[in-house]
Amino acid sequence: MRKLTATVIALLFLATLSVPAFAADSGKDSDRVFAARKNANACATEDTVYFLCNESVEGGMEHYVIRYLDKATGITGPLCGRPECLHTDADCNAYVKGRAFGIAYYDGRLYWVAAGDMNKYYVYSAAPDGTDHRTVRELDGELVPDEIGDWSFQFHREHVYLSCIKNTVINGKVHESGYIAAWPLDPDEAGFVVLDEEGTTLQMSTQLYGDDMYIVDVHRTETGEKSPPRFRRWDITTGQMEVLFDGQPPFAGGISDCWVTEDSIYTVESHPVGEEQYERSVYRYDLADGTFERSFEWFTGGPCAVGISDDLCVAVDSETDGRLAVIAADFQGNTVLDAELAAEGMPRGLKFLVLTMAGEDGENMYFYNYNTSPFFVSVALDGSGARILWP
Ligand SMILES: [Zn+2]
Repeated sequence: MRKLTATVIALLFLATLSVPAFAADSGKDSDRVFAARKNANACATEDTVYFLCNESVEGGMEHYVIRYLDKATGITGPLCGRPECLHTDADCNAYVKGRAFGIAYYDGRLYWVAAGDMNKYYVYSAAPDGTDHRTVRELDGELVPDEIGDWSFQFHREHVYLSCIKNTVINGKVHESGYIAAWPLDPDEAGFVVLDEEGTTLQMSTQLYGDDMYIVDVHRTETGEKSPPRFRRWDITTGQMEVLFDGQPPFAGGISDCWVTEDSIYTVESHPVGEEQYERSVYRYDLADGTFERSFEWFTGGPCAVGISDDLCVAVDSETDGRLAVIAADFQGNTVLDAELAAEGMPRGLKFLVLTMAGEDGENMYFYNYNTSPFFVSVALDGSGARILWP
């Protein structure tokens, strides 16, 4: 009897271990492929990509339009089913008044944050077809910094997390600090600050994975130099912050972006090897033993924008005449794509820095260009080309 009880307990224990409280398909985990990107304004379901576009006109009210791409038909447009609609006022299902942030697909619905009247921030949600708009909650004003850069709003396990660089002007000098706040989606529960660093953060990426938020940052050291990357992990259930790595990694270059797996953090390191030339490698940090290993040497090229997501490293590299190359490899180092990024209607002479990876869905990668002529573009991973989805 005793033995049987022990076996039953062991089985129950195993069952508990193998079935987390929120299974991956519960829909309540952050869709990191899109949501963890900085300035993330796109998300996807199996058959649709959604993206938020700033369609304000000079002198007019700031507003955004939720647009969609139907993957099967290739049809794009505002997420509004009214045939006569001009999509220019709040009666339109696709219209978002004010500055909008971070559209996400979470728990079967679309979620986003927008700054409305008096600069108050609200979380909104809608059905995937754009109907049934709801105001989920207000974000306590004092927890949203006035000036934010490199922001992301990530929806994960009944909360929305804001991570950003907070810009504060003190005695005429801008101080940049790593800042993270969270709000339960339940409007009766208060928001709280997760991290509010001294004003020395130069770069920060965050990613929600299971019960944890992973924070990778580069800051200015006491002697004014750029620090090596620091890895931390914040337990969303206990509120404990743990430093995973804060030392000298086996490389001298800087890192951009990161991707967390069950046992690893992957990141791309780059260091100069000549004028305007950089050598890039993918490194894996082992969460169990705290060591780095170089997974593979990726490619050498000019300064470029790098993104790393679910088994895909992506770079957009500018060439001297303003053409853009897009280079992608999987985590085993196999080159998936190495092609010129050209699409009908794409402006010439682009600078690489303004092209931001918005996400990928296994068939296409998506990029935003945020400069004076903004656009949203998809690039096929099979090499069949690129397509401007907006405007
Ligand atoms: Zn409309």
